Amino acid sequence: MDRRHPSRMTLRQRLYLVEVLAGLRLTGVRFFANMWRHTLRAAGFKGAAGAVTIQYPDERRPYSPRLRSLHRLVRREDGSPRCVACMMCETICPARCIYIVATEHPNPEIEKVPARFDIDLGRCVFCGYCVEACPEDAIRMDTGILEFASYSRLGMVYTMEMLLAHEPARPDGTPASPVPIPADRLPGAPVPSAAA
Ligand code: SF4
Ligand code: SF4
Repeated sequence: MDRRHPSRMTLRQRLYLVEVLAGLRLTGVRFFANMWRHTLRAAGFKGAAGAVTIQYPDERRPYSPRLRSLHRLVRREDGSPRCVACMMCETICPARCIYIVATEHPNPEIEKVPARFDIDLGRCVFCGYCVEACPEDAIRMDTGILEFASYSRLGMVYTMEMLLAHEPARPDGTPASPVPIPADRLPGAPVPSAAA
């Protein structure tokens, strides 16, 4: 730094060349060191561990069993929702993103069933209160599905049919059901210029 004026750079600093070369040297040293370690490991030397790079989404870290992922509605043996439309989850949801319409259940032993059960995941904060509050264990967040982005707000609204179709994740935490693709992300769908 030029002492006559603290804000003025020296000729060497203004050229940037030395710093660029220093950066390239550091990158090159790291690159070849890692490549050498990975090569040794591939050759059977287990002690040589290179930098860990996860090839997401083909590779994933093991998820915690407590991970809260995309919701699902639990089904009865006949495929109908276990939910009895008690509205506990809708009431406790701090984001007000659950919308339920109740109707009479054809079975007189079950009082009600949801005719409509929507969750707006664009507003959900994944607190898990809905799961905690449910007296029927009818809603869970154990699908392992974490990717459900959409081009529009409407694409983030999951209906009862979509939530009933989800399966619990496999023992290693990976999704067992196909990751749902909102209609506006299907091949050929028009890409909106701004969020709807
Ligand atoms: S996880 Fe929390 S914010 Fe999301 S739907 Fe359940 S209660 Fe609402
Ligand atoms: S708390 Fe459980 S049973 Fe009650 S409406 Fe929600 S999902 Fe259905």
